[in-house]
Amino acid sequence: MSEAYDVIVVGAGVVGAALSTSLGRAGRRVLVLERDMSEPDRIVGELLQPGGVRAMQLLGLADALEGIDAVQTVGYQIFLSPEENVRIQYPHIAELPSRYGRSEPLGPDMHYEGRSFHHGQFIMSLRARMLAQKNVTAIEAAVTSLVHDAHDQRVLGVRTNTASYYAPITIVADGIFSKFRKEYGGAYQPKVWSHFVGIELPPDAVLTPKHGHVILNQKAAKMTAQNQQVGPALVYQIGPDVTRLLVDVPGPVLPSASNGALQRYLSSVVVPCLPSKIGSALAQELEKGTRLRTMPNSFLPPSMQGMRQQQFGLIVVGDAMNMRHPLTGGGMTVAFWDCVYLTHILGTGAWSPLDAYDDSFPVPASARDLSNWTEVQSMLRAWHWKRKKLASVINILAMSLYSLFGVPNDHLTILRTGCFRYFERGGDCVRGPISLLAGLAPDPLLLVYHFFSVAVYSVLLMFRGDLFVPIGAASKGLAKPQRPSFLQWPVLCVRAIMVMTYACFVIFPVIYTETSSKMAFFGFRAYPTPILKPLWPFFASSAIVYYCVSKMQYAGVRSETYAKDPKNPYLKQIAKEQSHH
Ligand SMILES: Cc1cc2nc3c(=O)[nH]c(=O)nc-3n(C[C@H](O)[C@H](O)[C@H](O)COP(=O)(O)OP(=O)(O)OC[C@H]3O[C@@H](n4cnc5c(N)ncnc54)[C@H](O)[C@@H]3O)c2cc1C
Repeated sequence: MSEAYDVIVVGAGVVGAALSTSLGRAGRRVLVLERDMSEPDRIVGELLQPGGVRAMQLLGLADALEGIDAVQTVGYQIFLSPEENVRIQYPHIAELPSRYGRSEPLGPDMHYEGRSFHHGQFIMSLRARMLAQKNVTAIEAAVTSLVHDAHDQRVLGVRTNTASYYAPITIVADGIFSKFRKEYGGAYQPKVWSHFVGIELPPDAVLTPKHGHVILNQKAAKMTAQNQQVGPALVYQIGPDVTRLLVDVPGPVLPSASNGALQRYLSSVVVPCLPSKIGSALAQELEKGTRLRTMPNSFLPPSMQGMRQQQFGLIVVGDAMNMRHPLTGGGMTVAFWDCVYLTHILGTGAWSPLDAYDDSFPVPASARDLSNWTEVQSMLRAWHWKRKKLASVINILAMSLYSLFGVPNDHLTILRTGCFRYFERGGDCVRGPISLLAGLAPDPLLLVYHFFSVAVYSVLLMFRGDLFVPIGAASKGLAKPQRPSFLQWPVLCVRAIMVMTYACFVIFPVIYTETSSKMAFFGFRAYPTPILKPLWPFFASSAIVYYCVSKMQYAGVRSETYAKDPKNPYLKQIAKEQSHH
């Protein structure tokens, strides 16, 4: 038995390794228990957004990105179809309002940059800093259970197969398959939305170096794979010699790789949807029998920590507490910012990552005593709300973009295409969304603004004829833009209402999970949300608008100008009505 520590950290992954190092630097005696200290070989956590790089700079860990053959990423290239793409780039420092914070940009010309790398090398680099940090002790051992006070249930420490360790605070950072989440994590359990299948491609498979590629397969899939669902694919360099391809396979169940079903799905359904260079690189790897690796993509809303009796003395962080779809590569950015805030509130006060950055998060001296749980608890409450600005932007963006990009549906097709056209406009239509995605603009209102701007722009494009597709045509792959006539406006109004309604369905449930402590989701997701109630004014006004537009159309088609027009589709009906009179 040992009581020589202030904090015990379970897991030395992304969060565990970074947090132990920064807590050690902030004067705490830290014990880290990691079940496997060898280099991990996984397809997670390979692209770090500039916002995550900024957090690493504040933690004093930016040098962990050096010496691991990390590749700079300067932005994204979005493919609407194999032929149509648009580039969106991380902002220049002067383009970001200073209220979003400042840090050292990594790129030339003061541009923010991200980094992509081999996950294993990155973790080993973080662990090397952790092992070199004064005050930090690391032991290779799997934690099997938590030790509770028999009297008040407070967590006192952890057990491994060979020993028990004690400290005033235990931090659980045991990742996506957390052993402790169910009992201690919070109100929610993760829900698997899809899987990523990962494969390594040769370096020349990347079409634009230093850019993450997001390939929206839906349009191509409609042409080639009628009844098969195809999710988006991601392509990015993870080293000078390797390109990573991640293919999203929608739904909670993955075809089996052992009986060849997954390989068949990839070669017959996914390969034809990809830009030809990437598609043929994938086909070649499949032919060679290259190993496929898979991971579930889950959604787990965040929970306030340390509030229930059995959580006293315990903080659950990282993927064990909060997950979002990895489409936007935001998990590590959220994780490193959690490390920044937790070091700020749990350190001795001698040093804080926020020292020269943000003075709006004061920690009272009484909260520096980690055994004073009431004080620590109030700081955890403050952390829960402080982290929201950035974490909720990344969570909402990831989940809503995945719905937009991954779910086959006519109305979402309009939104998806509208989103692509919005990016094509450039300027603020790119700067805003990319700053949100990069984790550089922790501003939920900015996110809501751009999301609904996309929805309104999509509707506008529809009325202009740039996006108008007959109902059902998109799902048949027949969508051809055509200028709608005045007579089609009522149908367009219905469609516009549906598009706006779907936009609400996509974003409001995730917003709700971020703002409510006990939430639920609308029907088609696992958590039913009270969405219809708050939306009743929207539905009522939609009905009124539709009624008025129908009346206008009725009057319009019977007006002197149009009543006898041979193009008027109501000509026969009007003639019939007139003959009755
Ligand atoms: C497919 C996929 C791709 C992703 N891609 C990206 C990306 O490109 N960019 C990005 O920012 N995020 C990405 N993410 C998210 C990111 O990987 C996670 O948010 C991040 O790794 C979470 O860190 P963590 O410390 O919570 O968990 P981990 O990094 O998984 O660390 C958990 C650690 O705990 C250890 N452990 C587990 N149980 C025990 C135990 N009982 N005792 C002791 N040790 C234990 C494990 O060995 C491990 O070392 C991706 C996620 C997925 C699923």
